Amino acid sequence: MQFIRIPEHTMCLITASAMWDGINTSELVCQPALFIADCRVKKISSLFHERQAREYPEFKHIHFPNLTLLPGLVDAHVHLALDGTSAGKEKWHDLSAMAELVDQNLRQSISSGVLAVRDAGDRLGIALSVKQKKIGVSPDIPLIKASGPAITRLNGYGQFLGAGLGDVIGISEAITALRIAGADQIKVLASGIVSMNCFGKVGGPHFSKEEFHLIAEAARENGLPLMVHANSEPTISNVISAGVKSIEHGYFINLSSLNQMAETKTAWVPTVFPVAAMINAPEADPAVVEKTYRRHLKMISLAQKIGVKLAVGTDAGSPGVYHGRSYIEELRLWAKAGMPLPDILKAATATGAMVLGLDQSIGTIQVGKRPALIGVQGNPLETIETLADIKAVLLPQDYQADSHADYGGTIRGAK
Ligand SMILES: [Zn+2]
Repeated sequence: MQFIRIPEHTMCLITASAMWDGINTSELVCQPALFIADCRVKKISSLFHERQAREYPEFKHIHFPNLTLLPGLVDAHVHLALDGTSAGKEKWHDLSAMAELVDQNLRQSISSGVLAVRDAGDRLGIALSVKQKKIGVSPDIPLIKASGPAITRLNGYGQFLGAGLGDVIGISEAITALRIAGADQIKVLASGIVSMNCFGKVGGPHFSKEEFHLIAEAARENGLPLMVHANSEPTISNVISAGVKSIEHGYFINLSSLNQMAETKTAWVPTVFPVAAMINAPEADPAVVEKTYRRHLKMISLAQKIGVKLAVGTDAGSPGVYHGRSYIEELRLWAKAGMPLPDILKAATATGAMVLGLDQSIGTIQVGKRPALIGVQGNPLETIETLADIKAVLLPQDYQADSHADYGGTIRGAK
C-alpha cells in the first residue's frame, strides 16, 4: 500500500482514473482532478487529462493512473484497547504497553483504509488517555472519537468496558467527569449480549426505561451524544425513545423500532461480523450463530429500505474481530444481505462520518473537505472486493487537528 501525506503548505493536484465521491453515489466520476491547498479540497474537475497538469506548475502533482479514489472508510465501533484475542488484559495497568497496542490497532486500521474510528470504551479509559495525551502513537493514524470507560450495570455484562453502576443516582456527576476527561461521546451498555447457544436469548436489560431516561438527560446536559449497546426488545425501543445518537448491535430489533429510528434519525451500527465470527467458537452452537446473524442481515436490509441511517462498525477488539482487516468482512456480510453497493459505501463513509460528528471534514469528497482518501483498483460499485485490498491512503499532514473537532452546532447533543 502506498501511503501519502499531503503536505501542509504545498498546493497539490491529485488525479486518478476514477472517483466515487459519496455524493452522487451510483456513479463514478471519470478522470477526476482534486486541487488541494491548506490541506483542503479547493476545486474538483472531471475528465482531466494527465497532460493538463502541466498547466498548473505551482501544484505538486500526485497521479494514480489505475486507481479509483474514495473517501476514507469510517469504523463507527471499535475497542482500541482490545486486539481480538483474549490476551493482553494483564497489561491494562501499564499505559505505555497499552499505548503500543492501541498504536498497532490504529496502524492496522489505516492499512485497511479506515481513516476514522469511534472507540466504544474500555474499563480504564486507555483509548481516551492515548488520544488525549498522544502517547506512543504515530502521527499517521485515523481520527479517533473516544468514549472512555463505558456505563454499565454492576454485575451486568461489560465489566471489562466500564465499572458497573449499582444505581443511577450519581449518573450526572459520572457523565460530567467523562466530559471533563475529554470523552467525545458516552457509551452505555443497556443490555447484555446475545446467546450463541439459545436463539433469541439476550442478557439484561441493565436499566429500566426511567433509569435510561435519566442517563440520556445527563448526557444531554453535558452536550455529549450517546452510543448505546442495546439488544432485544423492549430495550431497543426504550433507548430510542430516550433520544440517542446511535444504537449499537441491535440484535433482535423489530420493525416498529426500525420505523422509530427512521423517524427520529437515530443511527444504527449493526456490527454483524462479531457474531458471524463466533461460528467456530467452541462454546457456540453454529446453527444458532447462523440463524442469529442471518436474521440480523434481513433487518439491516429492511432498515436500509425504510431509510434508517446505517453506519458500518466492526466491534474490532471483540473475540476474533481484528482491527482493520475485519472491516471487509463486515462489508461482505452487508453485501450478502442484498444491500445495494452504493448504500454500503455510503454507510462506510458519509453516514459513518456523520455518526462520529466529523461530516464537516470527511465522509465525502467535496470542496471544503479534507483530502482523507483511499485508492482502490477497479470499480467499487461493481464489487465490494475492491475494498479488500487498499492500494493507497492519502492523509493531510495536519489531519489529527480534526480529531479534537467538536460535534459542533446542532450536531452536538443527543440527536
Ligand atoms: Zn463493542
